[in-house]
Amino acid sequence: IPVDPFDLIIFGGTGDLARRKILPALFRRYCAGQIPQEARIIGAARRTQDADAYRAFVADAIKEFTTPRHCEDGTLDGFLSCLDYVAVDALGAAGWQELSAKITGDRVRAYYFSVGPRLFGPLAKRTKAHGMVNDQTRIVVEKPFGHDLDSAKALNATLADHFHESQIYRIDHYLGKETVQNLMAVRFGNMLFEPLWNSQYVDHIQITVAESVGVGGRGEYYDRAGAMRDMMQNHLMQLLCLIAMEPPAKFDPDAVRDEKLKVIRALDPVEPHHIVRGQYLARDGEAEEHPSYREAVGNPRSTTESYIALRTHISNWRWAGTPFYLRTGKRLKARSSVINVMFKDAPHSIFGADAGRHANVLSIRLQPNEGITLKVTIKEPGQGGMRLVDVPLDMSFAEALGPEGQDPPDAYERLIMDVVRGNQTLFMRGDEVEAAWAWTDPVIAGWEARGDVPKPYESGSTGPGDAELLIKRDGRHWQGIN
Ligand code: NAD
Repeated sequence: IPVDPFDLIIFGGTGDLARRKILPALFRRYCAGQIPQEARIIGAARRTQDADAYRAFVADAIKEFTTPRHCEDGTLDGFLSCLDYVAVDALGAAGWQELSAKITGDRVRAYYFSVGPRLFGPLAKRTKAHGMVNDQTRIVVEKPFGHDLDSAKALNATLADHFHESQIYRIDHYLGKETVQNLMAVRFGNMLFEPLWNSQYVDHIQITVAESVGVGGRGEYYDRAGAMRDMMQNHLMQLLCLIAMEPPAKFDPDAVRDEKLKVIRALDPVEPHHIVRGQYLARDGEAEEHPSYREAVGNPRSTTESYIALRTHISNWRWAGTPFYLRTGKRLKARSSVINVMFKDAPHSIFGADAGRHANVLSIRLQPNEGITLKVTIKEPGQGGMRLVDVPLDMSFAEALGPEGQDPPDAYERLIMDVVRGNQTLFMRGDEVEAAWAWTDPVIAGWEARGDVPKPYESGSTGPGDAELLIKRDGRHWQGIN
């Protein structure tokens, strides 16, 4: 369904994120007929250039980051004609008059702050001061949202000086992934799962976000952040909320976010012996191509973690006694994001000890191959008596949903269109972000107080050995990363 014509201003419109994600996502929505020709997309950044030069830059980005079939038959030219550019200084006066003169009328105005967080405040202030805000104004802010609780509070307060919470869209692109939304559909659209979704039937839950890449060009930022701040506090926390929350009364932004907030507030503090930090080493013979973490960030004494595994609990009626194991890291064996809901064994095996013990596992794969698999136990085929075997019941989008399922929209496509439509359900509210930092801060403070040094692990492995022990001690094991 096409949306009404809107104005989208991308501050940082020449940056890496705009080039790789935001502009290609907009183009794909244009190709899908969702963005009308009258929409205006204005790049606003420091670089001095005219609109034609910006269009050429965007055309290159689209050719690089979308499939060629989208660029044929004049569609790209049509999209480029929606584009404009203004050179603007977020910290000065340059460009603001020109930009504000372009933004008129009462259509939706979305300001995407695709810039470092230190510019959020100055941009919010100038956008307001130049009369560019109407009833239909929304701002989109990127991660990282703060470095700790104090800075997140300060950022929320600065934005609140100029905008109402209902106008602020804090992006966590994990929430835009099709499978993450499907997780809610599976939980709350079926009778089958929800009655079992508690500590009586679920033994434990694993959330893994494994990356095969290293820190790449983000070394300077990453070394100040680490996996706890860069991934755990936001992405893994959001996944944990969606898997653990109570059913909201309706699928409405505040109803969903209220339930997520309750999960974060019910999280137990993490005990130091329930957390393992790691830092990757280069693999033998690969140091030049894939350097160690310390080499990659240019800090030979860095004690920042590129890997983290932890065990936590949610202290409420539903989850009392069910551990949640979360892990994330860089330069691991494979790129794989998956949530595994590990159900308990059947209480009694009528097939005897030889049949083995088998428990159901519901795997929600975010990437690659988005989809959901339920491992069920059946009889092993053949004449060898009653032996049991696990088989996957696969709810792969690609097969079940045809072309739409094979090429699910990118998270940014979904999220940007939600901003235009004014739907905040998949965006983090200020209090959620603060609650997540309130849980994260003491963990980091504990490492700092103890002078904790991360455990080394080899690139291409599954992480430090201690992470295996973390779960083995409890008589459990990680599901494989593949
Ligand atoms: P970038 O350094 O590539 O681009 C920064 C942009 O900000 C440029 O367009 C630049 O012109 C503009 N800018 C800088 N100073 C300015 C000023 N004074 N006035 C006006 N414009 C100014 O950064 P990026 O990688 O595109 O990241 C943008 C934001 O998105 C950051 O907050 C980053 O943390 C976040 N983010 C990026 C990625 C990614 O993959 N690149 C992923 C997640 C979040």
